[in-house]
Amino acid sequence: MTTVGVLALQGGVREHVRLLQSLGARTALLRVPSDLAGPDGPRVDALVLPGGESSTIDRLLRLFGLREPLADAIRGGTPTLGTCAGLILLARRVLDPAPGQQSLGVLDVTVRRNAFGPQLDSMEADLDTPDGPARVAFIRAPEVTEIGPGVEVLARREGRVVGVRQARITGVAFHPELTDEPLFHRRLLSEARASR
Ligand code: GLN
Repeated sequence: MTTVGVLALQGGVREHVRLLQSLGARTALLRVPSDLAGPDGPRVDALVLPGGESSTIDRLLRLFGLREPLADAIRGGTPTLGTCAGLILLARRVLDPAPGQQSLGVLDVTVRRNAFGPQLDSMEADLDTPDGPARVAFIRAPEVTEIGPGVEVLARREGRVVGVRQARITGVAFHPELTDEPLFHRRLLSEARASR
């Protein structure tokens, strides 16, 4: 059985847990380094970084000493899905950060926080992805403004990049878990099975 670690410091954790469990995965909530790895090695086969407030999650990651172990696990090839604030945490460069805000810098993209303005602040949308159509929710979403050479675009909204993948790291500006859209989590689980 695949165990997915869901970062549970702040934000929309429950919806990811429910969706992952409905797809047959086991879930583990991540708050401190020992949730990620124990004396016998890694405790999770894949990772989810949920939405929420990226600057708060960043602060808590550093407070709980989880920032470096988490970045190492992702750099080491653990399949990872970041949604909304999770994408911001993964990104190498963040535009319009909160004061002092840092990111993990593991995904070679630039993101702009709160990129869609008040009118498009929150809405559901249908997107085309390489795995088929996806119905998702946007809530104060970032956009990807620059992508590095190894990064594939997975989805656009009004021509702007809102989903990317680099090796086993997927970052999306939206929330598939709020509309019960299983496509991205299903892919995460198959990547985890393939890399075991
Ligand atoms: N705007 C939030 C941030 O900058 C992200 C919003 C979300 O995760 N739904 O962290």
